Amino acid sequence: MSNLQAVENQKLQQESSPVVRTSKRQRDYQQIALYKDVNPLDWEDWHWQIKNRICTKDVLTQVITLTPDEEKGIDKAKGRLSMSITPYWGTLLDPEDAGCPLRRQAVPVIQESIIAPHEMTDPCAEDRDSPAPHLVHRYPDRVLLLATEHCAMYCRHCTRRRLVGDHETKDANSPSRFDAAIEYIKSDRKIRDVLISGGDPLILEDEEIESLLQKIRAISHVEFLRLGTRVPVTLPQRITEKLVNMLKKYSPLWVSIHFNHPKEITKRCKIACDMLAEAGIPLGSQSVLLKGINDRPYIMKKLVHELLQIRVRPYYIYQCDPVRGTQHFRTPVAVGINIMEKLRGHTSGYAVPTYVIDGPGGGGKIPVGPNYILSQAKGKYVLRNYKGKIYTYLE
Ligand SMILES: *Cc1c(COP(=O)(O)O)cnc(C)c1O
Repeated sequence: MSNLQAVENQKLQQESSPVVRTSKRQRDYQQIALYKDVNPLDWEDWHWQIKNRICTKDVLTQVITLTPDEEKGIDKAKGRLSMSITPYWGTLLDPEDAGCPLRRQAVPVIQESIIAPHEMTDPCAEDRDSPAPHLVHRYPDRVLLLATEHCAMYCRHCTRRRLVGDHETKDANSPSRFDAAIEYIKSDRKIRDVLISGGDPLILEDEEIESLLQKIRAISHVEFLRLGTRVPVTLPQRITEKLVNMLKKYSPLWVSIHFNHPKEITKRCKIACDMLAEAGIPLGSQSVLLKGINDRPYIMKKLVHELLQIRVRPYYIYQCDPVRGTQHFRTPVAVGINIMEKLRGHTSGYAVPTYVIDGPGGGGKIPVGPNYILSQAKGKYVLRNYKGKIYTYLE
């Protein structure tokens, strides 16, 4: 696709750095006939990307060759967590391989309608811990604000599939919809950290995001703001100069980005992350451990290494929550522990995220990983290092 290439070249040339790191891959996207006549300015317009999302089988068949499991999955995925794929993400899909890690995250399959006995609608019991609409208060000093029920793309492993999707929202866009949540945050002086997530808060218009940030920043005991988003990965065009300049004003504001696979780190995604980092916004990544997608240590290692190169600090790896219809994505916990074993000590500490299980029923994030304490007696710890060598530490 020459239009995307043209925009990339232009952006890359604008970078002042004399060292231009070139990707080993010639191109990190497919050329698709459907998009060959799209004006590069339209392609770069995030509203165009949203308007032209792939939501039907008819359009998707012009992008990839569908398998019977996918065709049946798309038919079933109506309403909540409907299929919705940005044209940008569409160009990253392998047209022939249904096992493509990006394709599996975006295209529904019939396995989603298999509900395992232990799977739940709201596995983390967020609705129970909600003191005001759109707010989850689980930990003493921080809250989670669900700013929207929409995303650029709907991930098939979504843990909030009970809320999220391409449906009409009753109070969508009503500026008063967060009033009760804001009042609640104001009333509890212990809340020093507000995490704005959703859905994807960066799917809202700049003005809506700013109005929300303003209201929260006006609360004197809130020290720290964070945004949880996937748009730098699914819709990097959303990260505009205007957005970045607005976000900059609300510092300290940290951004956590949902990354699952090294193939997601395209040249275009790098430009988006670079713009955020250049604005002084610290970036973290959160990944969900997904069977056949990122459950091999070498893939996770490649992902965390590439993240550090774009100034994104790996923050969490989540065990895939037992949410209804996700059994085909879930790995044994041992798989995650083994990935941590292969990272810690073997690579930069900055590249090592924390592997967590969100305690089903509302326990919050519980870290799990290899055990390095072999025994512990009075004043004496017997430890092993990453190579398995044993050391004694006397207190
Ligand atoms: C993940 C989460 C947070 C933030 O947790 P951190 O470990 O501080 O990143 C806050 N509230 C809820 C309900 C969460 O699920």
